[in-house]
Amino acid sequence: MKTGQLNQVVLHEDNLVGADLEAWLAGSGGLGLANAARGPDGIIPELEQANLRGMGGAGFPTHRKWQAVAERDSADKWLICNGNEDEPGTFKDRLLLERAPHQVLEGALIAALATGANHIAMYINPHEEQAIDSMRRAIEQWQCDTEGLVSLPDHIKFLEVVPSSGLYIGGEESAAIATVEGGFPFPRRKPPFPFESGVHGCPTTINNVETCAHVTHILRRGAQWYRELGIGDAAGTKIFSLSGDVLKPGAYELPMGTSLHSLIYEYGGGMLQGKEFKAVFTGGPSNTILNREDLDVALDFDSVRERHSSLGTGAMIVISEGTGIVKRVTQYVDFFASSSCGQCPPCKIGTHQMSRLLQKIDTGQGRRSDLDALINLSRMLPGSGRCGLVTGAATVLDSSLYKFRDEYELHLLDS
Ligand code: SF4
Repeated sequence: MKTGQLNQVVLHEDNLVGADLEAWLAGSGGLGLANAARGPDGIIPELEQANLRGMGGAGFPTHRKWQAVAERDSADKWLICNGNEDEPGTFKDRLLLERAPHQVLEGALIAALATGANHIAMYINPHEEQAIDSMRRAIEQWQCDTEGLVSLPDHIKFLEVVPSSGLYIGGEESAAIATVEGGFPFPRRKPPFPFESGVHGCPTTINNVETCAHVTHILRRGAQWYRELGIGDAAGTKIFSLSGDVLKPGAYELPMGTSLHSLIYEYGGGMLQGKEFKAVFTGGPSNTILNREDLDVALDFDSVRERHSSLGTGAMIVISEGTGIVKRVTQYVDFFASSSCGQCPPCKIGTHQMSRLLQKIDTGQGRRSDLDALINLSRMLPGSGRCGLVTGAATVLDSSLYKFRDEYELHLLDS
């Protein structure tokens, strides 16, 4: 079995050259795009063989998204490279945009060749000024290259940084489309899906920043090479944003399928102050919490799903024994309540109700009836909104009630 190595592919130091185009090209930059000249029929099967999954949360197979748009007959198509990244604990896309913008841009251009997209929006959180600046400089170098070092595909009509709203919901696909169109990031119901009707009604592909970065290397070195980087059936690598009560928090690019135990104890240096591991909030805190029984889980999309959770963005917020689950869940549900766009009554009202009840229990003023109401809400709310926000808030609460019920009971006035 392979062991994990740090900074294997997209975080390899050869790629972290900032917006320096010559340094990027000196490290084999541009080769992936050159190999993409064979068009959709060459690119998409390569992605399928590599088994690249979306790195922004859902883990949807990238080649299927691309195929769906490539098959649409339309004069204009869009690609949104999604760098909104506003989930607590997630910081990998900012790192890539700041330190490896050419790598991300090359992947986006390959995606445009595969899908036929002639409009590319590099969609970046406006709070990340350095990331925006770095990507703008990278684009400028491709567009104003007088020495013939690189060439943009001829069919590209639009290639710009489009700042997102900076709101959490702005990262949701339909909200991103609305923002690129110039509107408020209100998520909408699907269907239609972006490949059917996205930006201005055109077929649209939305890929996460990290996904685009991986594409560059798959086209450069081939699907087989990429697949073999993973452990077991998992393909490739993944950046994990490790934070919380670990000695060495940071962004770690490791083989897909690395165990949670290895991530924390081998790469993260173990727990702070030698404390015991208690739990981890995965993928942005909107998924089922993993606890000590899950330390052996392989961190790949399918294995984490088998534990009824999700790898999500790869964010891992670790907490140690002594950290109160109720307080932490209260903070996250409060974040979701304040991030709700308010379109769907169950979300608008339900997240605030959950937040109010959690605060009451966390401050020792809650009664059993409050806990019962909280349990009911956590079961009623999933699936009741246009986007996943309300489901995420209810899921993290429900899993904390299931795995750490005793802590809630201890907080009750009438326990
Ligand atoms: Fe807005 Fe919440 Fe509805 Fe999502 S679920 S669209 S955040 S109200």
